[in-house]
Amino acid sequence: MKINISELLEDQKDNIDIKIDVDSMDKMDLSEDISIISPVSFTGKAVNQSGKIFVIGEYKFVAEFVCNRCLDKFQREINGTLNEQLIKEGTIGSDSEEFYEIKNYMVDMKEILDNTLILALPIKVICDDDNCKGLCPACGANLNKTQCHCEEKKVDLRLEILKEWNLND
Ligand SMILES: [Zn+2]
Ligand SMILES: [Zn+2]
Repeated sequence: MKINISELLEDQKDNIDIKIDVDSMDKMDLSEDISIISPVSFTGKAVNQSGKIFVIGEYKFVAEFVCNRCLDKFQREINGTLNEQLIKEGTIGSDSEEFYEIKNYMVDMKEILDNTLILALPIKVICDDDNCKGLCPACGANLNKTQCHCEEKKVDLRLEILKEWNLND
């Protein structure tokens, strides 16, 4: 997904609107537990600020995660802002890795968005921070969906022990 910014470079305009949907990257590029399931939409612009070129704007996409606590899949919308400086072709210096190069008057929005997303994705996620009950440590049941009886059994056992104590008194 490449955007032509020649008008910026030739000072005919000082900003160019960019509004695109970029196909999400491959699941393989991410981690096993995360996949991007919508196009990544970006709304922003390329600007020329006294000869320096930037791409600024907001991105948004939906990803599917595996909950770290209950191991269930869930979807969440992720959004954020980006602000990246671009450098003109042929002016690459030694610290060029921090910048995106403009090639043939084009900005590669997919490259910028892909890199941004990798950094934006949380590593550990929980489907519902306040309410996810997780898995039962004893039987592994998903406690958001079912109620196992492990806890009750434990309580019963404690009561039994208490009863015995009382008898011995
Ligand atoms: Zn969960
Ligand atoms: Zn259980």
